[in-house]
Amino acid sequence: MTMDLKTFGTLADGNARSARQPVMFIGHGSPMNIVRHNAFTQSLQALGQRTERPSALLVVSAHWLTQGETRVSTNPNPPTIHDFSGFPAALYDVTYPASGHPALAQQVADSVTSIRIHPDHEMGLDHGAWSILHHLWPQADIPVFQLSIDYAKPPAFHFALAQELRRWREQGVLILGSGNVVHNLRRLDPDENQAHPMAWAQEFDEWVKARLVAGDYGALVRYEEQGRAAALAVPTNDHYLPMLYTLGLMDGKESVRFTHERFQHGSISMRCFESA
Ligand code: ZN
Repeated sequence: MTMDLKTFGTLADGNARSARQPVMFIGHGSPMNIVRHNAFTQSLQALGQRTERPSALLVVSAHWLTQGETRVSTNPNPPTIHDFSGFPAALYDVTYPASGHPALAQQVADSVTSIRIHPDHEMGLDHGAWSILHHLWPQADIPVFQLSIDYAKPPAFHFALAQELRRWREQGVLILGSGNVVHNLRRLDPDENQAHPMAWAQEFDEWVKARLVAGDYGALVRYEEQGRAAALAVPTNDHYLPMLYTLGLMDGKESVRFTHERFQHGSISMRCFESA
């Protein structure tokens, strides 16, 4: 049997889609990064460019919290949500016009057996999602949907739920956690470029890095055992929990590759990594 170019193209496309996608954790930090050109945004641009194009993006963001249930966004045309206030007008002019993927989102929801995941037809893209995608894939031509964080649940719940989503990596879905390893807005230095971290922030960030390198994800689920540094670095865990999704999606053979390791405002770790 001869194979014409068209058939080959179809097969090659199919193979590309079935290649396992990496998983990523992105520290998104301040909304100002939307309009900045700095080491962080450059690292995102480079990461997007060197990553094989996925067929869809699933984001677990610190900015979509639900209470007592997990939701998946099934809006075919998710609007860009400017869910921040008091920032310069230029930030509100930026949109991320990617389409949604309701059918795939529903399939992902249905594949989870431990809980029922509820479709949300109204949800748009929160800034935890679009502020990073804007730099990673600026053309906004890859469908995006989001999974909410059930904020009533303990850290171990999120790590376990993510394990149920692993199979979607084989289906061309690139899953990203978007939050921050260290995120304390009460303690932040107003100087945006204040890259020198506060002592407790550095202590916790380095502890997280060491546990990531060691593959000791269980310790990261039990981060509260780290005492004062953990309490200051993670005063509320909305920005920490997305990382547990990224870790639950990795298998035991993978390691992490850090793609950015700096601080902003002294109390926000911009640490980013992908599976390798
Ligand atoms: Zn945030």
